[in-house]
Amino acid sequence: MTRASLVWFRDDLRVTDNPALSAAAARGGAVVALYVLDEESEGIRPLGGAARWWLHHSLASLAGGLRDLGIPLVLRRGQATRIVPEVAAQAEADAIFWNRRYGAPERLVDAEIKRRLRSEGNQVASFAASLLHEPWTVTTGSGGHYSVFTPFWRACQNRPAPRAPLPAPPSAAAGSARVPSDDLDDWQLRPHAPDWAGGLAETWEPGEPAARRQLQRFVRSGLADYDRARDEPGLEATSMLSPRLRWGELSPFTVWHEAVAAEGGSRFLTELGWREFAWHTLDRFPDLATRNLRPEFDRFPWPCLDEDALRAWRRGRTGVPLVDAGMRELWETGHMHNRVRMVVASFLVKNLLIDWRIGEQWFWDTLVDADAASNPFNWQWVAGSGADAAPYFRVFNPVRQAEKFDPQRRYIDRWAADSRDEPIVDLRETRRAALRAYDEVKSAR
Ligand code: FAD
Repeated sequence: MTRASLVWFRDDLRVTDNPALSAAAARGGAVVALYVLDEESEGIRPLGGAARWWLHHSLASLAGGLRDLGIPLVLRRGQATRIVPEVAAQAEADAIFWNRRYGAPERLVDAEIKRRLRSEGNQVASFAASLLHEPWTVTTGSGGHYSVFTPFWRACQNRPAPRAPLPAPPSAAAGSARVPSDDLDDWQLRPHAPDWAGGLAETWEPGEPAARRQLQRFVRSGLADYDRARDEPGLEATSMLSPRLRWGELSPFTVWHEAVAAEGGSRFLTELGWREFAWHTLDRFPDLATRNLRPEFDRFPWPCLDEDALRAWRRGRTGVPLVDAGMRELWETGHMHNRVRMVVASFLVKNLLIDWRIGEQWFWDTLVDADAASNPFNWQWVAGSGADAAPYFRVFNPVRQAEKFDPQRRYIDRWAADSRDEPIVDLRETRRAALRAYDEVKSAR
């Protein structure tokens, strides 16, 4: 008789197009699902506040989806290297499956667990589920990584098309083993005293079923206009799928094939390409969140941190309406339009001369889509220290950006109607200071 299988869920909180789950179900025995809240393993970055809120709700939803398939979701907190083998034993499982993740500390943990479980005679397999192309499959002619997006994306497109998504598996056989689980509420992932997540709850319904509805809506009524309208934050014309992809409520294969079938949006597909590029860059530079990709930027003469300016930026009180609108949207909803993310990041780094890592950390804590690759990758892109980055001399002028991309002030009026054009710093003077600092970096090369 087939023994039980254990599926270890991580950033793949879905039952559809989940190769690890499908492989477990295909064995025919009982299936037990596990999620480990690992805040102890070395190097794994603790989740930010908004991410913890999302995780709570997405896990609750996943538990429901799995229950419908006859699969219990076991929740455990602690070091994964200890817990995964322990739960495999409790579940009487001899096959353990998961979908791959790409951060260096996470990969170390996974390799250690794989080694240990295999040495005990178990079957262990990992699957590609979170990226359209595994990082080691997209390489330059000489076997290296791409550092410029356009040739990277061309190389991806020259590869076999992304595979079709898998259906949700059929119900699993009931298991006999009872495996103890934590209570999700005891993890206290939601904020309390104060509960600042009201705006998040009004904006989002985490979980796979809502994610699928959102994708259908976008493909039906948003995709056709995406190329034209995507850059104007007031039009709300983008997919808002980033947290769905971040938490794996949707797989990129599902999103890709739905978009292709709708015959729309080569530009939309290219944006999925930027997500791939960020993850492939993290694979090559594990310290993406802490180290400049271009080492010459280590010499950047950051002035002493201006705490007041930083506080004004975080709170959306800089006196620059587009920046204030973006920072307030972020605080209220856990999301910010991409164009505005670029503007607020440029303002922090190039007008306030505050180290991009400080901005990256704030985004990490407040975004519901914060991920270990896209967030530092894009911060480095804006700062000029990253892969295929904006040229260092490009300093977004937030006033002109607002005129161009929010001509009717729809976005500004929605989020920061009270913000007057009275910047806390002189935009021209600070721009010049930034360029002088960037010149120092350049001449030090
Ligand atoms: P759409 O325009 O509908 O794009 C579709 C999908 O493509 C997105 O859901 C996302 O998965 C992907 N995508 C689009 N643009 C990018 C990009 N530049 N880099 C990587 N993936 C992209 N995105 C994150 O998912 N997580 C982050 O932590 C994150 N931090 C960012 C920080 C800064 C400073 C900047 C400038 C951008 C950041 N982005 C991040 C990228 C981008 O802003 C968001 O992915 C996008 O705004 C999400 O909205 P959407 O789903 O409506 O995007």
